[in-house]
Amino acid sequence: MSKQAVTIIGLGPMGKAMVNRFLDEGHPVTVWNRTARKADDLVARGAHRAATVEEALAANEVVVLSLTDFEAMYAILKPAETALAGRVIVNLGSDTPGRAREAAKWATAHGAGYLTGGVMSAPSGIGAPESFTYYSGQKEIFEAHKETLEVLTGTDYRGSDPGSAALYYQLHINMFWTTVISFVHSLAMARANGISAQEFVGPASNSMTDMSAFLEFYAKRIDNDEHPGDVDRLAMAEASVDHVVHTAKEAGVDHALPAAVLELIRRGMAAGHADDSFTSLFEVFRKAG
Ligand code: NDP
Repeated sequence: MSKQAVTIIGLGPMGKAMVNRFLDEGHPVTVWNRTARKADDLVARGAHRAATVEEALAANEVVVLSLTDFEAMYAILKPAETALAGRVIVNLGSDTPGRAREAAKWATAHGAGYLTGGVMSAPSGIGAPESFTYYSGQKEIFEAHKETLEVLTGTDYRGSDPGSAALYYQLHINMFWTTVISFVHSLAMARANGISAQEFVGPASNSMTDMSAFLEFYAKRIDNDEHPGDVDRLAMAEASVDHVVHTAKEAGVDHALPAAVLELIRRGMAAGHADDSFTSLFEVFRKAG
């Protein structure tokens, strides 16, 4: 049986990995990118380069977007709105749940189907069996194209609300960026003390592995709105993070990151949580909104 043909718009590292994966699996692929030369190597591998956005849309029912954000999507697709009818837009770019809902309305008003996707993998994980992507939007559309989308990654469908996949994605991404940037910050402190990234990565990875039991322990308490200071106290966290700030200062390394954490902890203490767990910041975050 012939494989479903797809269009991919957006050829950053992620879009390119997706095109390569579809080509590897024998799917005909049409591509379009603002900077056309980024398609050269893909065209050499058999992808078809659309000369215009209209041509890219007309080529296939399934149109995957892999763009920096939704502003890029509107910049590309608004001038070609009349070519949207009958297409299924699978937007795998990052943006907010609210913008995902607006985009779905906009696409539907132009006669297109629309799915939101949040890819939970680096480009190197496209095609790997353990990778997955959150999807949401109309169930029939998702079901109709699931098999093709699963060429890229596994799928985790999160319901008909087009904002849902974007929300799950942002929940992960919030943790991702704060974690990896704190890793880079620790490496800067390590280097200032003569320790290489290679030397520290083993112990750092081990502590990440141990994190899952830690998260599960606290998640139960958070769902019960219980933040007892029986295991840890916010006042202890204040002293602890203050030591990180001073370790950075001693090493001559920027300390803005731990200082921001310290400021949040002090807000929690000012709100009366000094003797509660660090999870009491949950209440501080919620009230701030
Ligand atoms: P890039 O930002 O590198 O790719 C950007 C793509 O968007 C390029 O094709 C670029 O075109 C296009 N673009 C950006 N702005 C505009 C604009 N105003 N008009 C037209 N085209 C525009 O992103 P990635 O490929 O890394 O990722 C794509 C999406 O996937 C992002 O939303 C990202 O958050 C998400 N993602 C990325 C991961 C990663 O590890 N890379 C992991 C998981 C998700 P041009 O080439 O002309 O600049």
